[in-house]
Amino acid sequence: MIKVARKIPVLRYFLIISLFSGLFICSLYLYLHYKKAKALRSSIESLITERENSSLIDSCIISLYSADNNSRLYTITGNKAYLTKFSKDIGKISDVITKIKFNSKNIADTAPDKFKNLMKEKAEKTGNYIKLRLLIDSLIKSSMTINRSLAQINQKPSKTVVKIEHKVTVDTIKNTDVKTKKKLLGRIFAAFSKKEQQTKPLLVKDTITQSTTTTNAGTGSNRYAIDNYYKKLYDVNNRLRTNERQILIINNNLIEEIISSLRLYKSVEQLYVKKSKQELQGNLSNVYAEFKEVSTMSFIFLITLLTLVFYNIWKIYRNEKDIIYYSDKAEQYADSKSRFLAGMSHEIRTPLNSVIGFSEQLGQGHLEPVQREQIDAIRNSSEMLLELVNEILDFSKYETGKMGFDSAPFMLAHAFDDVFTSMNIHAHKKKLFLENDIHLDDAICCEGDKMRLKQVIMNLLGNAIKFTIKGKVTLSARIEQHKDDDDLLLKVAVTDTGLGIDKNDLPHIFEEFSQVAGAQKATRHKGTGLGLAICKKIVELQGGHIHVTSTVGEGSAFSFELPLKRCEIDERVIAQTMTDEVMAELVNGRHVLFAEDNHLNVLLGTTILKKWKINYDVAINGHDAVMLFEQNKYDLVLTDIQMPELSGLEVTQIIRNSKNPYKSNVPILALTANVMKEDRDLYLNSGMSDVVLKPFREKDLIEKIALALQNNTAALRFVS
Ligand code: ADP
Repeated sequence: MIKVARKIPVLRYFLIISLFSGLFICSLYLYLHYKKAKALRSSIESLITERENSSLIDSCIISLYSADNNSRLYTITGNKAYLTKFSKDIGKISDVITKIKFNSKNIADTAPDKFKNLMKEKAEKTGNYIKLRLLIDSLIKSSMTINRSLAQINQKPSKTVVKIEHKVTVDTIKNTDVKTKKKLLGRIFAAFSKKEQQTKPLLVKDTITQSTTTTNAGTGSNRYAIDNYYKKLYDVNNRLRTNERQILIINNNLIEEIISSLRLYKSVEQLYVKKSKQELQGNLSNVYAEFKEVSTMSFIFLITLLTLVFYNIWKIYRNEKDIIYYSDKAEQYADSKSRFLAGMSHEIRTPLNSVIGFSEQLGQGHLEPVQREQIDAIRNSSEMLLELVNEILDFSKYETGKMGFDSAPFMLAHAFDDVFTSMNIHAHKKKLFLENDIHLDDAICCEGDKMRLKQVIMNLLGNAIKFTIKGKVTLSARIEQHKDDDDLLLKVAVTDTGLGIDKNDLPHIFEEFSQVAGAQKATRHKGTGLGLAICKKIVELQGGHIHVTSTVGEGSAFSFELPLKRCEIDERVIAQTMTDEVMAELVNGRHVLFAEDNHLNVLLGTTILKKWKINYDVAINGHDAVMLFEQNKYDLVLTDIQMPELSGLEVTQIIRNSKNPYKSNVPILALTANVMKEDRDLYLNSGMSDVVLKPFREKDLIEKIALALQNNTAALRFVS
């Protein structure tokens, strides 16, 4: 089939490349913008964190004030509830500080340590302050006890040594390493230091024992001692007050320092937030502007892309329409070419039939050597012409996909013998030795196309003989069979000692119209260059393969493998292998109706029939044929297809519809130059028994007549 493919213009390729490039640039652009969007997202995230930090710092400051108040209240009132509240506040501060995310780089590096130290200091100072405060209170209390003791001493006359002991129990906040007793301050420090092993603040009862020894030396000396004692106590109290003030100042300073640190941090954070906001605003407006730009560009690009896509789809659609149109045209063209070739073949075959047939008949008679030479020349030329017509027809058949294959049983060895015998004559003429290397079982019956197999072998042998000047040509054949299987593999090889084929020509040797220039010159052979291409098609279309090896000056070896099916030998197959004697016996004295409008063919046909002692009536059109058939009793009808008045097919219909069963079953042979398989199938389906192709040789015709008569006799015997 001829295919019409239109070349795709360069612009189309350019468009496709541009499309892909555009897509690539777009993806890259989007990827870069994705990175920017990511940066924007992180800015927004940090802004959110900063807002949270600000409120955390506020709550931290409030808790610090509350803690300070509670520590003061505890020292004033001694109520432990305030101490608990103080501890809770410190714990809360610690929690809040751990939650603060220090965004600003400088603060982030120093803030946790700084707060940690400040808080540690504050806790220590507060502890000390509480301790001191309680100690003072306790001292005041104990002075009252001393007063009472001294009153008692005054009443005693003798000199006594009075030892006044007072125990002061103080709640202090201590650091401890006991893991299970982790409390608030410990957690704060733990949060800052982030260490597993942490010290813990613990409310502990401290007992401070103070002793004062005084000597009772009499009433006067007692007063002095008491005054002295009070003076000392006052001094101590004063010192303690001074210390307490200092501690309070330190404590206060510490709180202020913590608060100012937190405020500083807050202001830094706010500054940072402000900066971030400005940055974000800048980024947002940048992204917005870019987004606008990208959207516009994307829109334009999308429109362009869509236009290009639609344009291409439209072009593809147009192209496809063109392809369909041209392939339809090509199919029509191939069909008309095939019809023309079939018609031409028919027209050439009809006169060729006379040429080949009469030259064969003439060649069988007594001839002078010169006349024999001339007759041989006529025969050779006509056979060459027939070969040419056949090759052109075969080429057209496989070009249009119409090459069909028969599937009928045949004796494999017999087919090879036929080919070998006929090709041996050619080899002999060229003084070449045709070696028989055929190793086939005579009993092997195969199902397949015998004519096509013979055609391939004859073609290969014909070439080998043509392109061998001296030496020999060998025909080898083997069969391979799988165990218990009907599948056979036929292996055939044709080797020669001829010219050989150049290794550069070998890959193209099976292509149509390929010929090797050297070989053509050396042998002065003028072929079509189609023979090997047809062989390859025949073999491959039947599931086999063919190949060649060759060396210039040494010869060539063509070999092929062909799968075949083994089949049972039946009467039809045995009948094919008839000898001349059997044929003569079968046809002798039989009555044949011969319908043919071409008087040369009539002349040739009647010559052969006469020679084989067959009685005949001739009808030169279909109408006469039917009339003669009705008037007489015939053993066989031999009819042309294209005849005036009634065609061969119409005559067949009339005969098959005859009421007389003997007449309706008479064998009908088509005599035609229509060689197409579909024609043959049509004839057989419309009731004809077999087909004799023009040009025919004497033996072809008599063999078909004998076979048809034999089969019909068997059929009649079976009916009766
Ligand atoms: P044709 O014989 O009609 O030219 P073929 O297809 O049969 O076409 O052969 C194609 C060419 O292959 C021949 O022309 C010849 O050059 C080369 N060729 C075929 N068989 C042989 C062979 N046995 N030895 C040498 N050359 C061969």
